Amino acid sequence: MIDEIIEFNKTFVASKGYEQYVTDKYPSKKLAVLSCMDTRLTELLPAALGLKNGDAKIIKNAGGLVISPFDSALRSLVVAVYELGVEEIMVVAHSNCGACHMSFDHFHHEMNQRGVTDETLDTIRRCGIDLDQWLEGFKDTSESVRKTVETIKTHPLMPRDITVRGFIIDSVTGALEEIV
Ligand code: ZN
Repeated sequence: MIDEIIEFNKTFVASKGYEQYVTDKYPSKKLAVLSCMDTRLTELLPAALGLKNGDAKIIKNAGGLVISPFDSALRSLVVAVYELGVEEIMVVAHSNCGACHMSFDHFHHEMNQRGVTDETLDTIRRCGIDLDQWLEGFKDTSESVRKTVETIKTHPLMPRDITVRGFIIDSVTGALEEIV
């Protein structure tokens, strides 16, 4: 598949397919969106929010979550605020998210099957990594959005004048429901 992508890329550049996307690194809507990596949202999320290339910083991970105050999602948001002029943040979870009800137990057997031994897992745990917490999803999407919004809003490095709002987007229709 990647080889096909490399071939496509050559044609894209040669035919100047990029011209309609040219912009700069500053988000023109001064907006950051934290959302899920779900493939249903790849085009639906920006389309349903009316976002074009250059409008917003879009940060994605499994679930659209902040799992700890100093994780990669929060690091990106801090950079977006201080370096890129972001003033408003939207946390956008979605219906039927794969991260809902995710747990380490779910991965354990699969990892063993793919050659990761329990000894390796024990070594990781001894290094202080809580695998259960690291791979835990959420039980309730609204509750998870509230928690993520709260973690961003009350973060010691986040300026108090930043607006943070939480939503769930319908994975089919793109309808937004405001949670917090
Ligand atoms: Zn998801």
